[in-house]
Amino acid sequence: MHSMNRKEYKKKIIVTGGFGFIGSNFLNKFVLKYPEYLFINVDCMTYAANKKNVTVSRKPNYAFEKTDIRDLKSLEKVFKKYKPTDTIHFAAESHVDISIENPAIFVETNIIGTHNLLMLAKKYSLNRHYQVSTDEVYGSLKKNDKPFTTSSPLAPNSPYSASKAAADMLVRVYFKTFGMNTVISRCSNNYGPNQDKTKLIPRFISLLLSNKKVPLYAKGENIRDWIYVEDHIDAIDKIFHKGKPGGIYNIGGNCELSNMEITKKLIAITNKDESYIEYVSDRPGHDFRYAIDNSEIYKKLGWKPRYSFKEGLVKTFENMTKGK
Ligand code: NAD
Repeated sequence: MHSMNRKEYKKKIIVTGGFGFIGSNFLNKFVLKYPEYLFINVDCMTYAANKKNVTVSRKPNYAFEKTDIRDLKSLEKVFKKYKPTDTIHFAAESHVDISIENPAIFVETNIIGTHNLLMLAKKYSLNRHYQVSTDEVYGSLKKNDKPFTTSSPLAPNSPYSASKAAADMLVRVYFKTFGMNTVISRCSNNYGPNQDKTKLIPRFISLLLSNKKVPLYAKGENIRDWIYVEDHIDAIDKIFHKGKPGGIYNIGGNCELSNMEITKKLIAITNKDESYIEYVSDRPGHDFRYAIDNSEIYKKLGWKPRYSFKEGLVKTFENMTKGK
């Protein structure tokens, strides 16, 4: 396909954080699926970014701008250069443990960075701002509580989740007060190709493959809802195109597992045994359980997850070990 003149693209979408885990999976699928859209990856390349994550960088409908969303002036230059029509905002500091060590950078990137994008989306009359958020904004559930719905109160417990909740509130304000066309989705724990090695599943797989013990918080009792990253990005695609203005959507994998259950599955897939588990003391403010009620997004947009944990884990493992 010959490259389209920038003016001819049906949409020109700023995708922030495109070299991270979920953003890169999104670009790798949708740059190919939508040749009529231009995707502008805006990423400042923190420790969590990896250029190799993006496999579509030679496509004519892909562009990259090394820009920090905390820097309003540089960000505005990108808006002036490309005249974008939409934003899909993935960029964030995303590691809870790091947020406990250094909360300030979470306030800067996740709150001020989001607000910079909102200001520019308003100034340049963009069609839609899509906020990629997390179920962690709802805080923690007890064992027998009902899963989170979009009416659950926001009750974040870590600097990470508090900064994401604050960003969601700003997005709400730009919808309510300024009439901007926004959508927010709040997803549960993702896993899959390109996830940074500091996160539980890739970290444990790497440790086990190099015959090292895995550190398990709080006897592994904490429960998370896990979703394969491709299911998350397919939901984003649907919400981006069909979500109603001001809409908030929860996205879950229908897959609640305790950290002990996950660890046992990782031990099995790497052919190790339980002597590889090292129990460590819990992290402060550690949320006990997250679970997502998927019925709203299913009813409104007809989306549900396609991958079982078993299928997703095999794909993740194969991706991590290919070529080794
Ligand atoms: P990630 O940490 O893997 O990637 C973040 C990306 O953002 C990196 O490429 C980084 O360089 C970039 N970035 C960070 N600060 C920036 C800044 N100031 N300016 C420009 N770019 C910057 O994150 P992820 O796991 O892919 O998460 C993406 C989004 O999805 C985040 O908003 C996160 O809150 C949300 N989310 C993640 C999960 C999950 O399980 N990983 C679940 C729900 C929601």
